[in-house]
Order: sequence, then structure tokens, then C-alpha cells
Amino acid sequence: MTSIESSPISHSYRGRFAPTPSGPLHFGSLIAATGSYLQAKSQQGKWLLRIDDLDTPRVVPGAASQICKTLERYGLHWDETIVYQSQHFERYQAIIETLKQQQLTYYCRCTRKEIKAIGGIYLGHCRKLTNSADQSSIRVRVDQPLDGFFDKLQGEIAVEPHLAEEDFIIRRRDGLYAYNLAVVVDDHQAGITEVVRGADLLSTTVRQRHLYQLMRWPEPDYLHLPLAVESHGHKLSKQNHAPALDLDNPEPQLWLALKFLGLKPPLELHQAPVEEQLEWAGSKWNPAQLPCQREIELSDISRQA
Ligand code: GLU
Ligand code: ZN
Repeated sequence: MTSIESSPISHSYRGRFAPTPSGPLHFGSLIAATGSYLQAKSQQGKWLLRIDDLDTPRVVPGAASQICKTLERYGLHWDETIVYQSQHFERYQAIIETLKQQQLTYYCRCTRKEIKAIGGIYLGHCRKLTNSADQSSIRVRVDQPLDGFFDKLQGEIAVEPHLAEEDFIIRRRDGLYAYNLAVVVDDHQAGITEVVRGADLLSTTVRQRHLYQLMRWPEPDYLHLPLAVESHGHKLSKQNHAPALDLDNPEPQLWLALKFLGLKPPLELHQAPVEEQLEWAGSKWNPAQLPCQREIELSDISRQA
């Protein structure tokens, strides 16, 4: 007999980590990787790796293989074969065609500058025009204001007003597919049941849910982990040159990541092999103990280390 309180273990749990290969992984990426890994493993689920190399001009040669090497060095071994978004362009196009046949998309020629000049929110200017594909982006219609959603860690999330009604881009003017489209198509294709990622992507979720609903695909659950920020509130990111994860000495960084995720790793694990640390973390993992702030200053975590 199962009690209502105990959360049932799902044997078909499928989670993933989806880094963009625009540079090496940093501590912020380690939190997303470790959090999604532990969440999947605690459900006896699969943890998949997808390389989000969609935005080809931003892809740094060699970054994808360095990311894989780093994950392995940190003991984060993925299941199944690695998926690359750059191999799915036909699939994205097919989904756009499906939406187009239902008159849910249109070509837009408005430039960022033009949209900025009218206040920064796109008001559907091209909806009634019959632009050709040439030099146009493709937008998907948002006919009803988008709904907020429930995040398993952050709770009820309201839609940011400027996102609620804006028809958004699913293929850019330069022909690149938009992140929101690709991530939905790929997560659906991979049968992802829960998306665990950093809170920097929280606001993108409402648009992704819109695409699931238009496609009538089952939606995954969402859990957005707090973001590691520097003491002055700046997000750790490749853009602000967060240091790459150390390949020679991964143990203390993994230990710190576990601490960040609300676990209390004992001091003697600080230099313990990563496999041992992850095994310990797996036995203690409880998403209810995750810190639910959107941001955590790294200095707060390391000071106590
Ligand atoms: N590739 C995205 C990024 O690196 C993450 C995609 C996702 O987790 O939805 O920010
Ligand atoms: Zn337009």
C-alpha cells in the first residue's frame, strides 16, 4: 500500500542536462548538471545529455567535447547517446510546418529597432500582412494570454506581463531556430518527464508551455534551481567569464555544488572521489530540501565551507 504523502518513485522518469557549447562548463553549470542528475537518479530514472548547439555562430569548436570530458571527470555519467540539436533542423522545420498549416504562425519583418521604437513589445504588426519568407522571422501566435505555471521548487510562477501576449519568434530572420522551439521539440522527442535547470530560464517556460499546448504534447514538470551569483549579484556565466570547472581537482568543487544544493556534505568528503560524493548525495537527496531562492551568492556558500 502506498501512502498519499510518500512521493511515488517513477520508473519512467527521464531528465536531462542541456548545455550550450559556447564555452567550458563553470560552477553554475555544475549546479544544474548535478541537481538534474541527482533528481533523475533518485527516481531511478534516466539522465540524458543534449548539446544545445543550435545557435551555430555561438558554438565554440571543441567546447562540446570538453563539456563531455568535464561531466565525466565530475562523475556525472549520462545514459543513452548524446543528442545534438544541430542534427535536428529538419525536425524543427517539420514542426513549424505543422503549426503553419494551422495558421498559427506568420512571417514578420519587424526589426528589433522598430519594435524598440514602439515601446519594446511586439504588438502583432505583421499578423495581417502577407510577408514572404524572405528576410523574415517566423512568429507563433499567442491568441490567449499565456498562463502562469507551477514550478516544483519555486512554486506558482506568474507570467511576466510583457511575455503574456506577445507572439514570439520560433525561427529567426537569419534562419536559425529559436531556443524555445528547439528545446520543446527535443524534450518531447526524448520523452523528458521533468526539466530541472537554472532559474535563469524560469521566464522562458511559459512560452515553451504554449508550444506544448499548441502541439498537444504532454508537458513535463519543471523545477528551476537557484542561480549561483557573485557577491555583487552578477550571474555566473560564460559571458562574464566565470572560471571553467577544474579538471585536475574536481572534488572540492563538486562538494561545494552539493552544499549549494542544500545538502550538508561532511568535511571528510571534501577531497573524496567524485563517485563517492555522488553516492553520498544520492542517498541524502531530497528536493524538498533544496533552497528555493532564485539566486544564491556564492560567497555565502563558500564562506561556510
Ligand atoms: N541550452 C540552454 C542553456 O545552456 C539550456 C536549455 C534548457 O535547460 O532548457 O542555457
Ligand atoms: Zn512584424
